[in-house]
Amino acid sequence: MANTKYIFVTGGVISSLGKGIIAASLGKLLQARGYKVTIQKLDPYINVDPGTLNPYEHGECYVTVDGHEADLDLGHYERFLNAPTHKDNNITTGRIYQNVINKERRGDYLGKTVQIVPHITDEIKCNIKQLGTKYDYDFVITEIGGTVGDIESLPYIESVRQLRWELGKNCLCVHLTYVPYIAAAQEVKTKPTQHSVKELQSEGIQPDILVLRTEHPLNKDILRKVALFCNVEPDAVVQSVDVSTIYEVPLMMQAQNMDEIVLRKLNMPIEDKPVMQNWRDFLDMKKNATGTVRIGLVGKYVELPDAYKSINESLLQAATYNNRKLDLQFIQSEKLTDENVESFLSSMDGIVIAPGFGQRGIEGKFKALKFAREKDIPTLGICLGMQCMVIEYARNVLGLEDANSTEMNPHTPFKVIDLMEEQKNITNMGGTMRLGAYKCDLAKDSLVYKAYKQDQIEERHRHRFEFNNDYKQDFEKHGMKSTGINPDTGLVEVVEVPDKKWYLGVQFHPEYNSTVVSPNPLFLSFVKAVVDNKQPE
Ligand code: GLN
Repeated sequence: MANTKYIFVTGGVISSLGKGIIAASLGKLLQARGYKVTIQKLDPYINVDPGTLNPYEHGECYVTVDGHEADLDLGHYERFLNAPTHKDNNITTGRIYQNVINKERRGDYLGKTVQIVPHITDEIKCNIKQLGTKYDYDFVITEIGGTVGDIESLPYIESVRQLRWELGKNCLCVHLTYVPYIAAAQEVKTKPTQHSVKELQSEGIQPDILVLRTEHPLNKDILRKVALFCNVEPDAVVQSVDVSTIYEVPLMMQAQNMDEIVLRKLNMPIEDKPVMQNWRDFLDMKKNATGTVRIGLVGKYVELPDAYKSINESLLQAATYNNRKLDLQFIQSEKLTDENVESFLSSMDGIVIAPGFGQRGIEGKFKALKFAREKDIPTLGICLGMQCMVIEYARNVLGLEDANSTEMNPHTPFKVIDLMEEQKNITNMGGTMRLGAYKCDLAKDSLVYKAYKQDQIEERHRHRFEFNNDYKQDFEKHGMKSTGINPDTGLVEVVEVPDKKWYLGVQFHPEYNSTVVSPNPLFLSFVKAVVDNKQPE
């Protein structure tokens, strides 16, 4: 069994400083040294998982291979580490309480009064430690959601305090804070950092390493001052200056020896700096890309780019590997009408129709699809986007007027998208969709086969509704082919229109499975089609 080391990442001053990116970057640097690393997120909210949350709350809901609906930070962890995460990588307060209450109902606590300390904290600690023991990791990096001082995160911080005692030298705390620049005084201010560290200390934790997020580079004096006031070694204060892409952050941390500081503090050998060639190659490609691809992402949560985080990142990766810069345009589907669709979409080189739930914005997606299909613009439909492709095709090519998904209109005369039998009696919304990785057989000579170059693939799902096989022949006859089929259930997972240059919809979410060093083949193929179709600049 590995002698697992546990690293905790907390945040102070304000939220949204990028704890997930710091955790992922440190993980990447340790992984590049040959260690087996995983990253876990503890979320302080009461929802059992983020699956029931509106994307406006915390952005996209990410899905793991084992079918867990998870925080979007797990997407960063996978994109950086190129390794899958699982249900154990994301814990919420709701799940901790649910487990403890279930144990109490079973009588596991033998008549004791169940309390935050020790029962909730024991449950939290168990969920942290089991990740190390179950999968034999060298490093478990645990990111604590929220900001130090929040009521909600107190039990997590208390658990970390206790674990420091239990784990001794096998444990380390990294605290990320913010150093604001006050323009009027032309000065950066360290006071919020000092206060935030004091807050952490008052909860019993002395950070070992501080990461200062800043818009302007900080000089040595500032770093020394922070070290002095916060009881941290001077070389263990590193800065995270705003950079043009999150993928620069690991190299920025490496340049300040963050991984070496970690290894030294954990009494581990420090060997030569890893070169991270494929990571650097990606950044070089990104910087040196010639030309641009302009892709329109049609969805209803476009005011909040985090709602489509994994799609944005997959497109960026695919554009980079196609030697192009990505110009991603977010298009609010609610706004699209027959009259204006051309003005919104005619300058797009490619179109992605986003996943989603419910009626809002759906008619706009049909307008976008009709336009894209008729003008033969390369188009990728993802999950609801694929279902919309099917509906639009049914209405305008098969002539099935008012065809719809029963999600949008349960009384539609043509249920081209419908609930699976086993979904019909489900009343609980949480964790009951078709979730996680499923096999899919690809038809030879199809676009999707050409993309993956494999007979069978596995991609992740998150939906209740499905293509209705009663209409399959009718669609085939009219030119929309089912080119990806689930071998166990016969469900249609991919549709495409071979008469078009690249017009393809997938019931799964390829965006959950695209990383910096291993971009998803379907996105690569889509962007390649976009590049090929584009007039020279
Ligand atoms: N709302 C659709 C369904 O449940 C699609 C879901 C999605 O796009 N993730 O089937």
